[in-house]
Amino acid sequence: MDLKIYDTSRRAKVIFEPREADKVGLYACGPTVYDRIHIGNARPLVVFDVLSRLLRTLYPTVTYVRNITDIDDKINARAKERGIDIRELTETTVARFREDCEALNCLPPDHEPRATETIPEMIALIERLIDQGHAYALDDGHVLFDVPSWDDYGKFANKDRDEQISGARVEVASYKRDPADFVLWKPSDGDTPGWPNPWCDKGRPGWHIECSAMSEKFLGPDFDIHAGGIDLVFPHHQNEIAQSCCAHAPTDRQDRFARYWMHNGYLMSEGEKMSKSLGNFYTVAELLEEFPGEVLRLVLLKTHYRSPLDFSKDKCREAKAELDTLYQSLRGHSASDLDQFELIVEGGLAVTKALADDLNTPSAVSHLHALAKGINRGPSQIYPVGSVSANTDLLEQKRILKASAKMLGLLQKDPEDWFKAGAPTNGPTEAEIEIQIEARKEAKASKDFAKADQIRDDLQAQGVILEDKPGGITEWRRA
Ligand SMILES: [Zn+2]
Repeated sequence: MDLKIYDTSRRAKVIFEPREADKVGLYACGPTVYDRIHIGNARPLVVFDVLSRLLRTLYPTVTYVRNITDIDDKINARAKERGIDIRELTETTVARFREDCEALNCLPPDHEPRATETIPEMIALIERLIDQGHAYALDDGHVLFDVPSWDDYGKFANKDRDEQISGARVEVASYKRDPADFVLWKPSDGDTPGWPNPWCDKGRPGWHIECSAMSEKFLGPDFDIHAGGIDLVFPHHQNEIAQSCCAHAPTDRQDRFARYWMHNGYLMSEGEKMSKSLGNFYTVAELLEEFPGEVLRLVLLKTHYRSPLDFSKDKCREAKAELDTLYQSLRGHSASDLDQFELIVEGGLAVTKALADDLNTPSAVSHLHALAKGINRGPSQIYPVGSVSANTDLLEQKRILKASAKMLGLLQKDPEDWFKAGAPTNGPTEAEIEIQIEARKEAKASKDFAKADQIRDDLQAQGVILEDKPGGITEWRRA
């Protein structure tokens, strides 16, 4: 199956051809760990998690690398403001980031390198750039990339000279030879973190050099796909390309770095740019108090990754209802019953095909709904209802639905857990509910319908909804 992706550098949807037939390297820019992530940060996490799942289905070996930026002036400022150690701030933030990723059902990448663990590689890369005549060191310890030394600078981001300069910060630092030059290394003074280096006693890297060094460390100087948010195209990704292409001598230089570039679109919130003053700024942690992580994940996947996404709590409520419908169709079987399936059947392929078309997640989600609809119509007409074959057929369809949804990281919970999860502190426990359902059954059996109705109404008032199914079975869920 061909995988088509929209490549930012070619500005076209193209057929993906890996460097090596059965091996794919994927690098995505990760978080700067000074605060909890917001729903806008969650978008690339979820989108490129789906990409990594798809790549693993299509290729035998996939290496997914996502970095952690744990050196940054925002981190230093935040630690100072809170009166805590920088390391304490970054460690707690990384731990919380991982909790958020898990709640969003994002699988961990194969490598999650930290900037603080990649300093020697960054220094070596900067030294190569100086040797090749693409960077210069100043007496005060700054090292800058010499933009005019590389003719191709600006091509990737499609920025001409004027735009390059206006993008490079308002006030141009006096130490720059050219206003477009950018920082590779800077001196650290006082209690600002720093490392020994060839240019000053104590210094720290610029942000862009991090990703060039980390991607090369795990994927080599020439790899397959580099991903990130659209806001990173310029200057971050343009600068990564300049550094990585120029660091390699003409003999081993591939002029490539990453062969394909994928960028997710902007996220708005409640119709506006997300901002704390507008009250539409949501961290993932805040949203998780109100909605399961799977709901947030579905909201992020219902819009194609390249389109702008207008996030809202109404969309979360809609997605919750959709997941209720999908999980409802899987009910009657445990998660492990539903797992016995290899994703080689047509139902699974429909979703894979949608995703192989530049990650068409909206179409993949509609395939899930079509599968659920088929299941809810009941056993296939070719078997007499109630026969063993009819039930097997239905179970197979449910397995196809679960296997298909796995590609999107959805519907992997036990269906009963989905409906019964909630806030047990605010309502009766599972055992208490079961006792009430039993009492209602007995009331009905002794024709005390008033009592049976009373039990149902009481439970409803406590946020528990009963649904009577054929065969005297009562299912329940929390509202
Ligand atoms: Zn990066």
